[in-house]
Amino acid sequence: MKKHLILVGGGHAHMTVMQRLDDFVRRGHDVSLVSPGPYHYYSGMGPGMLGGTYGPRQVRFHVRRMVEDRGGEFIEGEVVQIDAEKRKLRLDTGQQVSYNVASFNTGSGVPLEWIGAVGGDVLPVKPIHNLLAVRREMKQRLPRQGMKLLVVGGGAAGVEIAGNLWRRAEQLGGRVEITLIAGTRLLGRFSPKVRNLARESLTKRGILIREGVHVRSAGEGRAVLDDGNELPYDLALSATGVQPSGIFRASQIPVGPDGGMLVNAYLQSVAYPELFGGGDCISFQEQPLDKVGVYAVRENPILYRNLMAALEDQPQTRFSPQKKYMLILNMGDGRGILAKGAVALQGRWAFRFKDWIDRRFMKRFQVSGELDSSEPVITDA
Ligand SMILES: Cc1cc2nc3c(=O)[nH]c(=O)nc-3n(C[C@H](O)[C@H](O)[C@H](O)COP(=O)(O)OP(=O)(O)OC[C@H]3O[C@@H](n4cnc5c(N)ncnc54)[C@H](O)[C@@H]3O)c2cc1C
Repeated sequence: MKKHLILVGGGHAHMTVMQRLDDFVRRGHDVSLVSPGPYHYYSGMGPGMLGGTYGPRQVRFHVRRMVEDRGGEFIEGEVVQIDAEKRKLRLDTGQQVSYNVASFNTGSGVPLEWIGAVGGDVLPVKPIHNLLAVRREMKQRLPRQGMKLLVVGGGAAGVEIAGNLWRRAEQLGGRVEITLIAGTRLLGRFSPKVRNLARESLTKRGILIREGVHVRSAGEGRAVLDDGNELPYDLALSATGVQPSGIFRASQIPVGPDGGMLVNAYLQSVAYPELFGGGDCISFQEQPLDKVGVYAVRENPILYRNLMAALEDQPQTRFSPQKKYMLILNMGDGRGILAKGAVALQGRWAFRFKDWIDRRFMKRFQVSGELDSSEPVITDA
């Protein structure tokens, strides 16, 4: 029987479903993707785009074409509410769409209220396309008047952003001061060796790292710290951690402690078996999962199988997350820091390895004509 599958958000966890969408269409099902725009930016290469290693076209998926070329429907907009009883989604455009099965990959955001900021001159590092705005801003202002740049948050994202702001500034010329407010400590969830390597890499380029201090409020060019000091800035980026999108809570769908849709081992809502999800927007019931793309990527084949199974009344497949995963930090100086458990290694080869993995991921899911992985470095945006 013909059914309607709706994908909400064309993020990292939906790549396989979008790539193999014609399998669903061939079996007689309708498939729609709801997404705020035609592109999805790959976060793994986001800091590299900020630093000018990649151009915007090299780090984005044309999700609209991924869906339309394979017989699906693209609906531009954002889902703001789920009526799980009536199986309807309400969009910010006012449109309502009915589903038999829906899958959420709506990701997460960096709440600015965590640092008492109101926006304007403080930008969250997600969505990743914000980093494009930072590139442009630096191009306009840095060579003429110099800039004081502030990064708030000392996790992996904050470290990569600080290192790549430096790279962008090196290319543009002009006087730059980069300060990273790390909170309790830099890379607190990593091994001491990773922390030391990252600290050394950033400080030797003149990036000031402040540990044991938090931003209490920020706005109008001034950050107030919890040690009583104030810090002037021209542009601040917030990388203080992420929170899943609020639609589930607003729709009375059961959520986990982080506010993500609570899902069982089949990536299926614990209350509504026709709702699925993957990536940062879910809370995995069996064990907490870090908000990293690694899990979103691993969930791809399971979501593909389980969405098909849900449409065709077939048995579901379990998702078994790996315990340890590898992260390679793009430090912005052509080097990477590879971290896996207690292992910490640094070098140009580590960045080249990351670059190879990331380009391969882009190539695997990109529609034809959208990506030329040999495309030269673009630094003019
Ligand atoms: C700077 C930075 C660098 C990172 N680097 C790495 C890395 O190297 N390796 C790694 O493993 N992890 C990395 N991460 C973590 C990684 O970004 C996330 O874990 C990953 O983005 C999760 O993917 P996702 O598809 O769930 O969410 P997202 O990438 O946030 O995608 C969600 C999608 O849903 C859409 N959407 C949102 N709301 C709605 C709505 N209401 N309706 C419809 N569509 C909606 C969005 O437009 C977006 O396209 C990094 C994070 C940051 C901030």
